[in-house]
Amino acid sequence: MTREEQIKALTAEIEEELVQIRRCIHRRPEIAREERETAALITKELEKLEGLEVYSGLAGGTGVMAVLKGGLPGKCVIVRADIDALPVQEQSGVDFASEIEGKMHACGHDAHATWVLGAAKVLSKMREQVPGTIKFIFQPGEEVSFGAKELILEDHVLENPAVDCALAAHVWPTVKAGTIGIAQRYAFGCPATFQINIKGKGGHGAMPHLAINPIAIAGRICAQAPTILAEKIIGLEPRVLTFCSIHAGTTGNIIPDNCEIMGTIRSTDMDVTQQIARELEALVKSCCEFSGASYDFSLRAGLYPVRNDPKMIEICRRSAAKMLGEEQVELIAEDHLAADNFSEFSRRVPAVYFYAGNWAEGDAEPISLHNPKFNVDERLLGHVTQVLCETVFELNQD
Ligand SMILES: [Zn+2]
Ligand SMILES: [Zn+2]
Repeated sequence: MTREEQIKALTAEIEEELVQIRRCIHRRPEIAREERETAALITKELEKLEGLEVYSGLAGGTGVMAVLKGGLPGKCVIVRADIDALPVQEQSGVDFASEIEGKMHACGHDAHATWVLGAAKVLSKMREQVPGTIKFIFQPGEEVSFGAKELILEDHVLENPAVDCALAAHVWPTVKAGTIGIAQRYAFGCPATFQINIKGKGGHGAMPHLAINPIAIAGRICAQAPTILAEKIIGLEPRVLTFCSIHAGTTGNIIPDNCEIMGTIRSTDMDVTQQIARELEALVKSCCEFSGASYDFSLRAGLYPVRNDPKMIEICRRSAAKMLGEEQVELIAEDHLAADNFSEFSRRVPAVYFYAGNWAEGDAEPISLHNPKFNVDERLLGHVTQVLCETVFELNQD
């Protein structure tokens, strides 16, 4: 039996078990930094396997890592899953829906945890022929940008032995079900959230000259902001500046004191994101000064983008093609600007973060991540398990 056939056979043996594990995690979603039951389930599954050292209680208590030392010399590879759920009330209608009010695995992290467990199960059985060391990492808190830095800086998961590269996969709504998508450059972007509070002067709607209307100022800011992207930022990198929330006023004849605006800035480069933010603040300042208002401007930033390493892309593409067929692998030219703190790994070691397609045939539109109706195509569990395992071997053949 070839290695590929062996991976397929071992995955087929556990496919039903993986579905049950995923449903178990799905029923009991735990949001960021509360993943106690989830971590216990993962630890219990890992402890059943031979040849693994299991470490729990990482990253503030709910992170788990298992280390597999293969029988052959080779690289040290991280295979990472995130494990947290979201504060969403599930409406998927599946019979294993969330039993916890107001919480749901709406980002597919139940599947991520399961396919990394799948890879641990398969590779543990093949450990005599596995090259190098594999660190299976179950990261808590991704949805609140927690966990990755803590695993690296406090739990030192990149050391002893030193990690050579990292792998991860995310369920992806805009890639066809059954297909693996690999972004050729950026799998995730570099986000920032801004909050602007315009402080005008309230008054009567009939006497705007006696007031300073923060709504009129907000209107000018929103109308002029696209100019920043068009005229102030050079380069062809993708970038967005989106207003997502605006609040002011109570009724039709009162000019309010304040207007609060929130939104997001994203690009594929930390410096560009910061530069757009500085330009936005300059625009806010000039619009407020023109009208005699003052303002507060605050920015939450600091996440790096996830750039896929060119060599890792090719190795992952080849592995996916071997396991699932050439036509089941799609290279994606466009950059995606969602965010994921897997970037803490990918900025330190070569990495690939691929997408597991979840767009069901027959669905006119994909169901978005974080949507209460989101559901995972469970065939992905076996597919991604196989791709992760084969990639681990292929990484050592260059
Ligand atoms: Zn998410
Ligand atoms: Zn996610």
